[in-house]
Amino acid sequence: MAKVVVLGAGISGHTAAIYLRHYLSRKHQVVVINPTRLSQFPPSNIWVAIGKMKSKHVIFDLEKIYRKNKIEFVQGRALSIHPEGDGSEDRPFVMVELTGEDKQGEKINVDYDYLINATGPRLAFELTEGLGPDKYTYSVCTYEHAEQTWKALQEAFEKMKNGQKQKFVIGLGHGSATCQGAAFEYALNVAYEIRRRGLQDKAEILWLSNEYELGDFGMGGAFVRRAGYITSTKVVTEGILAEYGIRWIKRAGVYKVDERKIYFEKLDGSMGEVEYDFAMLIPAFKGAGLKAYDKNGNDITSKLFNAGGFMKVDADYSGKPYEEWKASDWPKYYFNPDYNNIFAVGIAFAPPHPISKPMKSPSGRVISPAPPRTGMPSSVIGKTVASNVAKSIKKGKLVLEHTASMAEMGAACVVSAGYGFFTGAAATLTVFPIVQDYEKYPEWGRNLSYTLGEVGLAGHWFKYMFHHLFMYIVNTRLLWWALPL
Ligand SMILES: Cc1cc2nc3c(=O)[nH]c(=O)nc-3n(C[C@H](O)[C@H](O)[C@H](O)COP(=O)(O)OP(=O)(O)OC[C@H]3O[C@@H](n4cnc5c(N)ncnc54)[C@H](O)[C@@H]3O)c2cc1C
Repeated sequence: MAKVVVLGAGISGHTAAIYLRHYLSRKHQVVVINPTRLSQFPPSNIWVAIGKMKSKHVIFDLEKIYRKNKIEFVQGRALSIHPEGDGSEDRPFVMVELTGEDKQGEKINVDYDYLINATGPRLAFELTEGLGPDKYTYSVCTYEHAEQTWKALQEAFEKMKNGQKQKFVIGLGHGSATCQGAAFEYALNVAYEIRRRGLQDKAEILWLSNEYELGDFGMGGAFVRRAGYITSTKVVTEGILAEYGIRWIKRAGVYKVDERKIYFEKLDGSMGEVEYDFAMLIPAFKGAGLKAYDKNGNDITSKLFNAGGFMKVDADYSGKPYEEWKASDWPKYYFNPDYNNIFAVGIAFAPPHPISKPMKSPSGRVISPAPPRTGMPSSVIGKTVASNVAKSIKKGKLVLEHTASMAEMGAACVVSAGYGFFTGAAATLTVFPIVQDYEKYPEWGRNLSYTLGEVGLAGHWFKYMFHHLFMYIVNTRLLWWALPL
């Protein structure tokens, strides 16, 4: 009998857990540790933050799903990993602080044979003074944030209806922040809703980004095939913003927000500030901040995690110059090289290098996006690792049969504005692979047969269906495992 422990029940962890349960017989234990009983599908938070969806439509009840599937659930937050035990106990374990109402604060050790770290990002609002829903800006990163953002947006609409002008600033709240796609989608939705209400003469909307060129999206931009032409995502993105009446500032590293203004440094060293009435800015992401100790109690955190708190896996972390990086440096199996029974999936794994060229202002401020690890690759990686772990358990040794390198997989990003089957439009960007491979595709870095950009209703429908497909799968409804993921 083997015991697999999954830390985090977001997109990647929950996917890994339900597939593990599907692949493994009931004699093996699958345990999930997550701080909250409810989990969520963050891509649909955009719809919550424009009032088109209720939170209840983007959340799923872990306790209920796990009870049905015979997965053990521990409501708690992992604090530290002890991959060699602790001297008195040989078995590896994770120290967990319980967060459920009845046992809040209690600490327990959960032992494991295999550990999957799927703790996602920590939203590091504190890295930018004044940033975040507790301070001056709004966020769409969780459904709770999205609800609060929608409330504030309605207030702004009311003010405009009463003749007051409103300045909206939407974008990235830190020089190294990623998740441009989510912020961009929100900007378009806000512009759409303003126009739908006939309030456009009362609104100024600004896209504020750390990208060198618009359309970078943390993946170095892309050349896409569109309507028979090859064009760059810069041209497509600028065109869309212009169409929605949104101005932009690029190459900006936001470092401070106060009640009236947002302050930033530009890549050329110049300083800037903009006034705002409503701001939604995505924070920098860090790892969950787990510690690690060897059997003697020595701190080995740096062996398992990089400086940002993301877990080291089977990637090349040698730190060679950006120009020398190759697609093959990206991880394929996601196991920690020092402890082969520990894996990291989704945002929790440490990328070997930025995909967008790293850049700094003369003062040393990083102003370039960190690599995104979006929902689609996160769930594919979760499923792939679950499959390899299940095979390893069955064979009694480490079996690495399936790979899920971001340099070998594609992803689709659908930015939809307007909600409904026949209203609004969506810009759909598909890239293959996510991480450019200039050895295989010397001209463009990607395969242009699958790297496409389209604007229209089809992407809208795709996004809507994808939401329902995802919710069907994560709720493990009838024959969920037969559906594509
Ligand atoms: C507004 C928004 C829109 C997005 N839109 C898209 C999109 O259109 N397409 C797309 O592909 N991607 C999109 N994404 C990105 C996508 O949501 C993420 O890539 C995905 O959620 C990452 O999955 P994950 O499992 O790594 O992390 P998460 O889904 O964040 O899950 C991490 C889990 O770990 C838990 N956790 C944290 N710390 C601990 C701990 N110490 N112990 C135990 N558990 C812990 C958290 O509570 C959480 O449940 C969007 C993201 C946002 C915020």
